[in-house]
Amino acid sequence: MTSPDTPAGPAPASDDRVDLKGMTLAGIEAFLRPLGKERFRARQILKWIYQRRARTFAEMTDLSKDFRAELDRVARLSRLELVHRQGSDDGSAKLVWRLDDGLRIESVLIPEEGRLTLCVSTQVGCAMACRFCVTAKGGFTRNLTAAEIVNQVIQAQELSDRRVSNIVLMGMGEPLLNFDAVMDAVEVVQYEDGLNFSHRKITLSTVGIVPRMKELGERSPINLAVSLHGTTQAAREALMPISGRFSLEEVLEACRRFPLPQRKLITFEYILLRGINDDVEDAARLARLLRGIPAKVNLIPYNPTPLTEYRRPTDGAVREYQQALLDRGVQTSVRTTRGDDVAAACGQLGGYAQARPGRPTLPVVPAVPEG
Ligand code: SF4
Repeated sequence: MTSPDTPAGPAPASDDRVDLKGMTLAGIEAFLRPLGKERFRARQILKWIYQRRARTFAEMTDLSKDFRAELDRVARLSRLELVHRQGSDDGSAKLVWRLDDGLRIESVLIPEEGRLTLCVSTQVGCAMACRFCVTAKGGFTRNLTAAEIVNQVIQAQELSDRRVSNIVLMGMGEPLLNFDAVMDAVEVVQYEDGLNFSHRKITLSTVGIVPRMKELGERSPINLAVSLHGTTQAAREALMPISGRFSLEEVLEACRRFPLPQRKLITFEYILLRGINDDVEDAARLARLLRGIPAKVNLIPYNPTPLTEYRRPTDGAVREYQQALLDRGVQTSVRTTRGDDVAAACGQLGGYAQARPGRPTLPVVPAVPEG
């Protein structure tokens, strides 16, 4: 294959007007040029959308009335429709959004001491088919637009009284297979006179789409997280079929070459599955593999779901695995499981109807348009 991109799938249904949401500054400037408008108008519009949170052009009162009317004829400001909001006992909240074409995606708000993280989706479904992942069960439908990605951030913020401080591109989908839209969205959320997120507060998580990792490093200094989950080619491929295309060694080599800004580390996500990759020999192999890479490891004890056969490791096994890495000088944390009672935990998005035993079944939100 010449390009690693996932086919875009059906285009989002919309009216014919151009959506200015999620459009970069350069994009808005280019859009305004044929309308005979000055360049600085683009920044004015951007401020209205992201700083003053205008939902209509009519609100943009420092633009002339005629200009606002013209904008309304040729452009629009899209929004997502919140169809379901499920709070977890631990304070996290799963947000289910309906897109213009009726498809659904999910974001998760995760409050922690001193920060509020938003986990954002980048595709409807996912083509990567990771064996442990619920999103994978529904397959891939289409890429999200930059607007649909940025709108998750804006609208999740509207729902919270705390400022969203961190964005992780770790929801449904493989972000590097929707590269252009993701890069636009990442640029837009960083505008100082807009949402003003620092690149230090944005993390993109990938299964290791090697050619795109290189491009990402060239284009953006945001944080990189790589899902590893296996310490041999065979073990990784058994869990992540994409590893047959981009091997463990190729992914690690791409990490070694990744242009890391000063003091940044690559995060390696490692889902621990009972009896599969949770023993200390595995930890020792992982430490060896990461030699020479500025790395930290984020261990994720598996969140069991009725949709897969994998089991969660014992707490003791998690502690021993972590200690084995620490003993070998690898910075290691264990991700606290958040939101598993509402199927919002890592690897559970897109399951819609799951619930932990003992809790009432959640309202079923179908992944396909109704009617
Ligand atoms: S874990 Fe991530 S990359 Fe793998 S199938 Fe699930 S959503 Fe896709």
